[in-house]
Amino acid sequence: MTEPSTFRRILLKLSGEALMGAEGFGIDPEATARLAGEIKLARDAGHELCLVVGGGNIFRGLAAAAKGFDRASADYMGMLATIMNALALQNALEQLGVETRVQSAIPMASVSEPYIRRRAVRHMEKGRIVIFAAGTGNPFFTTDTAAALRAAEMGCDALFKGTSVDGIYDSDPKTNPAARRYDRISFDKVLNDHLKVMDSAAVALCRDNGIPIIVFNIREPGNLAEVLAGDGRATVVHPS
Ligand code: UDP
Repeated sequence: MTEPSTFRRILLKLSGEALMGAEGFGIDPEATARLAGEIKLARDAGHELCLVVGGGNIFRGLAAAAKGFDRASADYMGMLATIMNALALQNALEQLGVETRVQSAIPMASVSEPYIRRRAVRHMEKGRIVIFAAGTGNPFFTTDTAAALRAAEMGCDALFKGTSVDGIYDSDPKTNPAARRYDRISFDKVLNDHLKVMDSAAVALCRDNGIPIIVFNIREPGNLAEVLAGDGRATVVHPS
């Protein structure tokens, strides 16, 4: 199993919530700028980076469907929300002098490039950060699955999942103080124990393509760069 320090090309999955501030909704410029700083540090350490950003800070298809929306229409709205987040992140990164490209799975020619795999790879080789927006472009999927899919397509060495906890626990550490954290865990255990890391389609896609998932706390300043360097607290999901 490769240790984090040897990962050259990585996909970073950020949930929409990472862009939220104290209001608990929407895009907070300060939180977004801080995230951009974390991402820049990782880029400066020599990693090739691409990002998938969620949309849960703005709109979640499943939640809207539960309240009576048509599921497919709600999911398309959710995907459009991720485009707003991608543009916010792009703006914050470019203010730090980091070159980026947004590629959307739903073509939106005036604000982003369409998703073109070979073009995205070329951007990364040139040191640009590619931000993948609009998930997979299909309803009934999540941005976690989009992250696993793009990581496989881009030939990423690992998928880094930035969350608000420092790894995977055997139960929810926010409600159970005795919850145990794993340093390493197999894909099969994550799936069999129904551990809430990413949805099962995303975990299975990573497992089948041999892409380790590294779960870490993105809210802790400097942590992304530390975890990438092989330090810092994280859980590595690896093939058994
Ligand atoms: N979505 C979708 N297809 C995809 C990715 C996302 O339909 O391939 C929709 C879905 O409605 C989802 C919303 O976009 O609820 C926002 O994404 P997600 O909930 O995964 O965002 P996160 O929880 O990471 O912020």
